[in-house]
Amino acid sequence: MAADSPHARLAQITHSLHAYAKELQAGGVEGFPPAPLVTYPSSSTIWADEDSPGSIASSRTEMVEHRPQQAADALAPSTDFSVSASDPTAPTAPAGEAPLAAVQTLAELRTEIGDCQRCRLCEKRNTIVFGVGNPDAEIVFIGEGPGYEEDKQGEPFVGRAGQLLTQIITKGMQMQRSDVYIANVVKCRPPENRNPEPDEIAACEPFLAKQLEIIRPKVIIALGKFAAQTLLKDTTPITRLRGKWQSYRGIKLMPTLHPAYLLRNPKDKRLVWEDIKAVLREIGRL
Ligand code: SF4
Repeated sequence: MAADSPHARLAQITHSLHAYAKELQAGGVEGFPPAPLVTYPSSSTIWADEDSPGSIASSRTEMVEHRPQQAADALAPSTDFSVSASDPTAPTAPAGEAPLAAVQTLAELRTEIGDCQRCRLCEKRNTIVFGVGNPDAEIVFIGEGPGYEEDKQGEPFVGRAGQLLTQIITKGMQMQRSDVYIANVVKCRPPENRNPEPDEIAACEPFLAKQLEIIRPKVIIALGKFAAQTLLKDTTPITRLRGKWQSYRGIKLMPTLHPAYLLRNPKDKRLVWEDIKAVLREIGRL
């Protein structure tokens, strides 16, 4: 092979890259930073939901972490979040999760997020709305993103939709908000309550994945299409996903309708109640 042939040059480049990677590894570098944006289908494709009677963006709500510390030893082997090779539904971890590998508690995760500017949602937010509730919760609710009130108060689900979610938890499930954990797909309020864009979701998703890894609940309740479609990587409309058990990295996931949608379509509360009853049966509370 001639020394200046394309094959020879490619071999040289490969060799140099290999040597560089080994050098980094020797210096303690475990991996490479993720690409800033993950290419997703276009917003109109992934979030198109003709079945959905309306966007939930107009009255979204969400939450804030207020359990500051969780001992590392609480993350017992049973909370191992490793993806089971036997679970064919387990999605591949987003590349952005790699830098969070050492994070073991919600408090550490919040510290790691810091004054996050990983996506453009940082520009107009008032505060990062991280999540709230019991870090050892059996049930985690995942919504879409903070709305006006949540951004103002720094706490998720504190607006009208949040009040309805609270009623579902307290009156329907006979539990307290502090018994469950509530978080969102994106931690910063999209301006004018618009839908989050796929690149914004991709930037923030590693934080949600880590929250779920740390809490390792028995059941995730995905509220609305953004939560369900993001976690399941499935563009099926929420009206068809809801009520059917799914799996997120080995955790049972129940997709259901968003409380904001229920405010506009109260007749569908009965559907959500059916989904909630299935969850209660799953955790032995019904
Ligand atoms: S939405 Fe998430 S990724 Fe974007 S700035 Fe806020 S915390 Fe960071």
